[in-house]
Amino acid sequence: MNERVLRIEGLSARVDEIEILHRIDLEIRPGEVHAVMGPNGSGKSTLSHVLMGRPGYEVTEGSVTLDGIDLLNLPTWERARAGLFLALQHPTEVPGVSLESVVTESARAAGRSTEGVNEVLVAEATRIGFDDRFLSRPVNVDLSGGEKKRNEALMMGALRPKYAVLDEIDSGLDVDALAAASRRIQEATDEDDLGVLAITHFSRLLEVLEPDQVHVLARGRIHTSGGPELAERLEAEGYVGVLGETGTPVDLPTGIIHQAGFGDDPFVDPLA
Ligand code: ADP
Ligand code: MG
Repeated sequence: MNERVLRIEGLSARVDEIEILHRIDLEIRPGEVHAVMGPNGSGKSTLSHVLMGRPGYEVTEGSVTLDGIDLLNLPTWERARAGLFLALQHPTEVPGVSLESVVTESARAAGRSTEGVNEVLVAEATRIGFDDRFLSRPVNVDLSGGEKKRNEALMMGALRPKYAVLDEIDSGLDVDALAAASRRIQEATDEDDLGVLAITHFSRLLEVLEPDQVHVLARGRIHTSGGPELAERLEAEGYVGVLGETGTPVDLPTGIIHQAGFGDDPFVDPLA
């Protein structure tokens, strides 16, 4: 049997001819929580998009394997089927498609039973204190920022992936919703052996969700890794305290930074 681990080795990637990620190494095992923290523009979302296979990102070296499966050669849906889940920093609105259809079709694609999806969704909504009237709405349409984040947490709970990459799942959540969502993620690590890569700016997500390791990303590189105390140090000293002068984003030619589409809708090719 293959070793169970989401293994990122020497991963470098570029967007639009510019190298954004440099030789990233990370190993996430079932049940573990790894936090990736870093200033704006350090490459956190780029890492999440490269892992999930968003178009427009070119991997220049390195590999990503999920329990022995080479992910980089697979289209996004097959990565999902292999057990990878991504909660987007900016969740996409999908008019005309309900959450129930998304979860039903995902289960079907994975060869799982599609019975009782509605019951699962209602149970998941209850667990994170999310109003189940949102369940019948088209995915994320007209939801507030915080409601979209809860929806991502709910989908993660219902789809039961092996590994979840959560890109700023805490942003826009009020204190109660944050506590409920982080508790749900923590429970998934215990109940389902979920491996978590939690991208966040703030250590408050890590008050309930207990990281095994914290990695600080700066200018597309893992600058420092440590235990939970590293998140506390970041809280106390800020990125400047931990990173010094390297805390600033990669230098990019003017005009590229604000390129439309980046970081938002995953169905839009950022280079189109
Ligand atoms: P973070 O999530 O850490 O805030 P991102 O991964 O979104 O950072 O961005 C990392 C860097 O890559 C930033 O400097 C950003 O401007 C740059 N970048 C993102 N998208 C593009 C793009 N489509 N073309 C060129 N540069 C990009
Ligand atoms: Mg980001």
